[in-house]
Amino acid sequence: MLGSRVHLSLPLLSVLRQMGTTAARTVTAAREPELLSATLAFEDPKAFQVKTMGELLRALGVFRLCSFPLLVNNCGTLMSIARRLLGKRGFSLFVRPTVYAQFVAGENETEIFHSMQKMSLLGLRPMLAVPIEEDLGESTGEKRYENNMEAMLECVHISHSNAWSKDPMMQLKVTALLSPELCVKLTTLMAQKPYDLNELIRAMDGEPISFHGLDEKENAHLLCGLRRLNKIAEASVNKVRVLVDAEYTYMNPALSLVTMAMMKKFNKNDAWIWNTYQCYLKESKSLILEAISLSKKEGFCLGVKLVRGAYMDKERKLAQKEGRHDPIHNSWEDTNDSYNGSLNAMLEVISEQPERYKIIVATHNEASVRVAAQRMVELGIRKDGGSVCFGQLLGMCDHVSLTLAKEGYVIYKSVPYGSVDDTLPYLVRRAQENRTVLQGIRKERDLLRQELHRRLKHKMGTA
Ligand SMILES: Cc1cc2nc3c(=O)[nH]c(=O)nc-3n(C[C@H](O)[C@H](O)[C@H](O)COP(=O)(O)OP(=O)(O)OC[C@H]3O[C@@H](n4cnc5c(N)ncnc54)[C@H](O)[C@@H]3O)c2cc1C
Repeated sequence: MLGSRVHLSLPLLSVLRQMGTTAARTVTAAREPELLSATLAFEDPKAFQVKTMGELLRALGVFRLCSFPLLVNNCGTLMSIARRLLGKRGFSLFVRPTVYAQFVAGENETEIFHSMQKMSLLGLRPMLAVPIEEDLGESTGEKRYENNMEAMLECVHISHSNAWSKDPMMQLKVTALLSPELCVKLTTLMAQKPYDLNELIRAMDGEPISFHGLDEKENAHLLCGLRRLNKIAEASVNKVRVLVDAEYTYMNPALSLVTMAMMKKFNKNDAWIWNTYQCYLKESKSLILEAISLSKKEGFCLGVKLVRGAYMDKERKLAQKEGRHDPIHNSWEDTNDSYNGSLNAMLEVISEQPERYKIIVATHNEASVRVAAQRMVELGIRKDGGSVCFGQLLGMCDHVSLTLAKEGYVIYKSVPYGSVDDTLPYLVRRAQENRTVLQGIRKERDLLRQELHRRLKHKMGTA
């Protein structure tokens, strides 16, 4: 059924051939470092030859809208006004072919499969993300968390059961399975007395452990949450790599605690569970070094998603309000140094034990991508070895993703899916978190325009 849904035009196939991005492509020879700056300049509009005219125009239109800070900053309010005025159907008719189509894979299995299949033919791998997350004050009941678990299990199933799923990955938000309030409480308690990873593992296996500092109801909820996480990990091990997202500093230690417990239980011979490290945090480098040493001590494989971090403004405002030190680096340059330092620490351990350490360089930043590629050459890490890969969000910085794929790197796109109503809050949050990136994608817009002009000229020439 899937095959019959995918129609690739001949020009698209010939461009793919030109780009050399077949799924089976293997690139073994490492390029000389000086050649890297030329091949990874990300200045070739050819990357967009694989897009249809409609996709080019849509991307240009959506990015143009994203270049207005007023629109991006207030997109949540504007969207809810539009939804009220147009009604559910009218709003969907407006959003679906534009913002939704740019950043979301689709609503039903057929639409998702179609998007994934197309991505796979471009040499990009999907990393599915169920758009469910909660912050403080948004907690829902146990039933809702159980439903969320079913949605995650479905995501595991979609991720690995198809032809396009080569070494599939998916993202997981712990706050979709465990209340943010409990995560905050655990974070506070852990600062006084650490929890034992072995106890968490026993609780995952169903033992009725009593965790210190929690009342009966909180303890029961933690036990349910750990069992939910265990169920997802059991379903995904040996099939799908589960990348746990990092969220806010007031709950991240609890998220890392349960993630480390899952790593200890499930990552004995390979990294199936990964943790995320936000390099905008002053403590990020020490957290990575701690994780590396814990993985050695406890004997588990470590998978790392390295990001700069998405919640800068909220973290800063909260620290100011509570009279705490700002946990975020003072400048973007400091965040960049922190990113490069953590990247280097991981690449060094990967060069020694590529089977036990893995990283996804999750960034749209071209300089970071080049730093990673350069260091891989210096340390002799293979592009296609599977221990280092790159990640960007669907619909963003395709010139970076497509160029990396063309050069033989392993590259994932983070792909949300679901109905317009389900994905809207997710899209609004992502737009606001990534507004610096969205407003800075002038280069992608220029390349899209160049490709558009090239096609129009070609059309007029042949007319
Ligand atoms: C596949 C994928 C998964 C992701 N998962 C997560 C996740 O789990 N958790 C999460 O928090 N984020 C996540 N993100 C988002 C990520 O953290 C960034 O918000 C986003 O990628 C923008 O950073 P960049 O490196 O791509 O772009 P850049 O434009 O190079 O960097 C922008 C980022 O730099 C930092 N920054 C900007 N200005 C300053 C300043 N003045 N001082 C200090 N730092 C500054 C901020 O983190 C900002 O987001 C993910 C991104 C991707 C691509």
